Amino acid sequence: MKKKNYIFILILMIASNSAFSHNNPFLKPFSNIYQTVPFSQIEINDYTEGFNAGLEEQSKNIQTIIDNQDKPTFENTIVAIEHADEILGRVANVLFNLTEAETNNELDELAQKYSPKLTEASNKIFQNEDLFAKVNYIYQNKASLNLDTEDFMLLEETYKAFIKSGANLSKDDKKKFSDISSNLSKLTLSFGQNVLKETNAYSITITDKANLLGLPDYALAAAEQKSKEKGLEGWTFDLSMPSYSSFMRYAENRELRENLYRAYNSKSNKDNQNDNRNIVKQVVNNRLEIAKLMHKTNFAAYKLENTMAEDTNSVYKLLNELLSNYKPTAEKEFKTICDFAKTYTGDADFQMQSWDWSFFSEKYKEQNYDLNDGMLKPYFELDRVKQGLFWLAGELYGLQFKYNPSIDVYNPEVQAYEVRDKKDELVAILYTDFFPRASKQGGAWMTEFRGERVLNGKRLIPLISIVMNFTKPIGDTPSLLTFDELTTFLHEFGHSLHGMLANTKYASLSGTNVYRDFVELPSQLMENFATEQAFLDKVGIHYQTGEKIPAELVKKIKDTENYNVAYFCVRQLNFGFLDMAWHTIEETFEGNVEEFEHNACSKTTMFPTIEGTCISTQFNHIFSGGYAAGYYSYKWAEVLDADAYYVFKTHGGIDRATAESFKNNILSKGGTEHPMTLYKRFRGQEPTIDALLKRNGIK
Ligand SMILES: [Zn+2]
Repeated sequence: MKKKNYIFILILMIASNSAFSHNNPFLKPFSNIYQTVPFSQIEINDYTEGFNAGLEEQSKNIQTIIDNQDKPTFENTIVAIEHADEILGRVANVLFNLTEAETNNELDELAQKYSPKLTEASNKIFQNEDLFAKVNYIYQNKASLNLDTEDFMLLEETYKAFIKSGANLSKDDKKKFSDISSNLSKLTLSFGQNVLKETNAYSITITDKANLLGLPDYALAAAEQKSKEKGLEGWTFDLSMPSYSSFMRYAENRELRENLYRAYNSKSNKDNQNDNRNIVKQVVNNRLEIAKLMHKTNFAAYKLENTMAEDTNSVYKLLNELLSNYKPTAEKEFKTICDFAKTYTGDADFQMQSWDWSFFSEKYKEQNYDLNDGMLKPYFELDRVKQGLFWLAGELYGLQFKYNPSIDVYNPEVQAYEVRDKKDELVAILYTDFFPRASKQGGAWMTEFRGERVLNGKRLIPLISIVMNFTKPIGDTPSLLTFDELTTFLHEFGHSLHGMLANTKYASLSGTNVYRDFVELPSQLMENFATEQAFLDKVGIHYQTGEKIPAELVKKIKDTENYNVAYFCVRQLNFGFLDMAWHTIEETFEGNVEEFEHNACSKTTMFPTIEGTCISTQFNHIFSGGYAAGYYSYKWAEVLDADAYYVFKTHGGIDRATAESFKNNILSKGGTEHPMTLYKRFRGQEPTIDALLKRNGIK
C-alpha cells in the first residue's frame, strides 16, 4: 500500500516540471544565508509533506531511544528527546507563525489539521511507558549524575512534562487525556480564527463629514485610505487597531461610538458561525477534566505548578492586594471623568457608558494636561523610533543592527536585520513587520522562527520576529506613532532581546521559554525607557521640521504617565479575575457565558452591563493563546519590572553595567534556572510591590 502511494507520487512529480525540480525546504536544515527561513521557496504542499516527514522522523527518533539497550543516560535519553523533532520544529514554527502574521484559508486549514496531530504525537511520546521508565530512572538518580545547572533543569522539565502529560495515569485515563488535549488544540485554534473573522467582518463607511467631528486629520486620512482600498467613497472604520481606538477616542458622535463599541464587544457572541460561546464552555470543561485526571481541584491549580506564583493562593493574593491598593484611586479617577462629562455635555444627568470613557478621558487630558496623540505623533516617526531602539540596544547591550535585504521574508513589508555584538559577531536575525493586513491578527507580538540553542558545540542563531499593527504611511506622510505605540514597540523589542541574547544549550530552555509569569519582565522593563531623556533625544524629532521634541512636551508626557493609572490597573485586574474564575471552576459549566462573566467581574467593573457584549468570547489570551490561568502574569511582571527598573534608575537610567548584569543573570539564561533564583541574582533580594506603587503614585 505504501509502495503504491509512493509510485503515484513519483508519477505526479515527473508530470509536473516545477514539482520535479522543487526541493521541499523543510526536509533539511535551511540552506539560505544564516540558515534563515527560505519563505519564497516554500510551496503549500511542502507543509503537508514536511509535517508527515517530521512526525515520522520524530517517532523514529523516539523509538531509537526506547530500543537502545544501553543503560539510560542523560545524553542518550533526555538530550535525545530534546533533539527528536528537527523537521517538525522547522515546519511548525513557520506555519504557526504565518497563520498569525500572514494567513490564508489554506494555511488556516493546515493549522486546523495538524495542530491536533501534533498534540496527539506529543501525548504519545510523553505517555509512553517504556520511555517514561527510562526518564524516571534518570530522574530518580539525578543526584549522582553531576549535571550542570542547565542539564539539571532540562532533566527536571522533561520529567515534569511526562507527569503533566499523564505518564503516571492508567491506560484508560491516558487515552482520555490524549483525546481531551487534542480536542482542546482544535477548539482553541477555532476560537482565534472566529475572532479574526468577526474582526474582519465589520466595517462602517461614513459619507457625511458631520459625523466625523472630533477625529484628527491622521485618523481621517487612514479612514479615507481604507475606503479607497475598498473602492468606496467616504471614510471607513473597522474593528482593527488603531482604526477602532481612534474612533472611540475622538468621535463626537455618541451614537456611532455606541455602534462601534457594540460591534467590537459582541465579537463571537452572536448566533452565527463565528460564535465562540460554546467553544468557551467546551474549553473550560475540557480543561477541568484534565485537571481532574491529574487529581487537581481545578485547571488553575494544574497550570500554576510551572510558574513563579506556584499556586492559586498567591495569584489571588496579588490580584486582591492590587485591587485594594488601586480601587479607591480608580473610583476617584472614574468620578472625575464622569463629572467632566456632565460639564462637557451640559447634562447633569449624563450617564457614563462604556463607549464614552475613551472619549471623555481623552478630552479631559487635552483640557487639563494640554496633551493629545496628534501633538506627539509628528515627533515619533516609525523609522526614527526604530533606529532609536537599535541605538538603545547598542547602549545597553552593545548590539548593532544591519538591514540585510538579501534575507528572505514572508511579505514585502517585512524587513530582516543582522544583529551583531561588539565584536561584530552575528547574534541573531530580527524580522520587523509593522503594518496591519487582513491576513494578520490584531495586536502586537514577538515570536521566533527558530529558537537559539547550541548544536554540536556551535551556537545556532535565533530567528526572532516582532509583529505590530502600526498606522501605515499615507502618501507623503510616513508612519507616525502615538506614545502608546512607541511603548508597545519597546515592549515587543524587550521580548525580542530575551530571544536574541539567549545563550543556552537547549532550545526548550532558551530565550522566552520561561515560566509564563516571568516572560513579561524583559518586555515591560523596556517600556520604562520610553521617558528616558537620552532615548527621547534620539527618537523624538519632528518628521518635517527636524526640531527636537520640546522640553515642555516631554514634561507633559511625564505628567500624564500616571493619568488614570489606577483605572487601567483595575481594568487589567478585571481580565485577571475573569481568567481565574474560568479556570478555578470545579464543576462542569453548563450556564450562561455572559452571566458567568458578569459575576466574575463584579468587583472590577465600573460601567453598566451592556447586553450582548462579552469579553470571554473574544479573550484570545486565555482561550486561544497560552495565558489560561496566566493573565495575572502581566501584573506579576509589572511588580518585577518596576522593582528591576529601580536598579537602572539608581544608576542613572540607561546604564551599561546594570544592563550587563540583567543580560548575564536574566536575558541570556532563559529558563535554565528557577526565575526567582535568576531574579535574586540580579536584584540581590526578592521583589516587592513597593516600587510599582511608588511609580504609579499610589503610595
Ligand atoms: Zn508581552
